[in-house]
Amino acid sequence: MLIVHGAVHRSHEPCAAMARASQPPNFDSPERVSVVLDVLRAQGGHLLRPASDAGLAPIARVHRADYLNFLQTVWERWSRVRDAELALPQFWPGPGSAAAGLSGRCPDSVVAQLGWFAGDAIAPLMAGTWAAAYESAQVALSAQRAMAEGAPSALALCRPPGHHAGAARLAGYCYLNNAAIAAQAFVDSGMCRVAVLDVDYHHGNGTQEIFYERADVLVCSVHADPDEDYPYFVGRADETGTGPGEGFNLNCPLPAGSDWVAWRESMEICCRRIASFSPQALVVSLGVDTHRDDPSGSFKLESSDYVAVGQRLAEMGLPTLFVLEGGYALEVLGANVANVVMGFEEHNK
Ligand SMILES: [Zn+2]
Repeated sequence: MLIVHGAVHRSHEPCAAMARASQPPNFDSPERVSVVLDVLRAQGGHLLRPASDAGLAPIARVHRADYLNFLQTVWERWSRVRDAELALPQFWPGPGSAAAGLSGRCPDSVVAQLGWFAGDAIAPLMAGTWAAAYESAQVALSAQRAMAEGAPSALALCRPPGHHAGAARLAGYCYLNNAAIAAQAFVDSGMCRVAVLDVDYHHGNGTQEIFYERADVLVCSVHADPDEDYPYFVGRADETGTGPGEGFNLNCPLPAGSDWVAWRESMEICCRRIASFSPQALVVSLGVDTHRDDPSGSFKLESSDYVAVGQRLAEMGLPTLFVLEGGYALEVLGANVANVVMGFEEHNK
């Protein structure tokens, strides 16, 4: 399989900075990409390629211009008012405020804008965050372009992850929605139907939001019940899309502590829905924080289960772009991603 990766992501390292700032732990370390690459290299047979630069235009197809401008300028503006290693929001327009929602007026203050464009306080901004997020999107776009040029599948080793990022919102370690950007790029290449399957432990609230009113991009997700875990406010089974998008969003929330048997049943429901949609490409938001040892989740999947995930996805018979999302148990992260790839490739031999 073609594996696309980058190196600039190392400039965004919130884990150590958050610990120094006495914040709750942040598990999105640069080592995450390294350990996956190490295992894939040892596995052999893959074509590794650094990301190329497709520019801002395909990112702007998904994210709002004011949000992209904020992301590109926030660190320089923040540095003028605060001497700190990272920027975190502290103030939000609440549901009772006249400005609630993004239809109100964006405040001028960079401190206020942090809350305006942030869904929560676990996606810190640092000096290297924009460069890392931009590269992460380019990793996904490079893999997408390789598939548009004929590769049957690809794995984009994106970091930071993306599926919690909305059109104008950073959240949950995510700044740019790599999977949504790639799905939109498939649409812009001429495809009429693209499916996104999100198998990360956490609901992909950003991806759902971006495509919620659209019928050309089907979004299906298996995840922890938002009544029990992040992102808490979104991801319920009765969220099915609106307007033309009604029926094109499928959520399969599972109770905390769910095991492979329950998880596989929900994934099967998603796979059947995707098959009935007959997409021309499948984007898989590949989070492996469903593993039993993951510090951010509660599911009980074993490393060997990920081989079966890859096999089932290969059975779909679709051009498939895997986009790395979560997965924070460094000792098994590489093996879990490599097992998905192995199951997928073995089925296609
Ligand atoms: Zn996750």
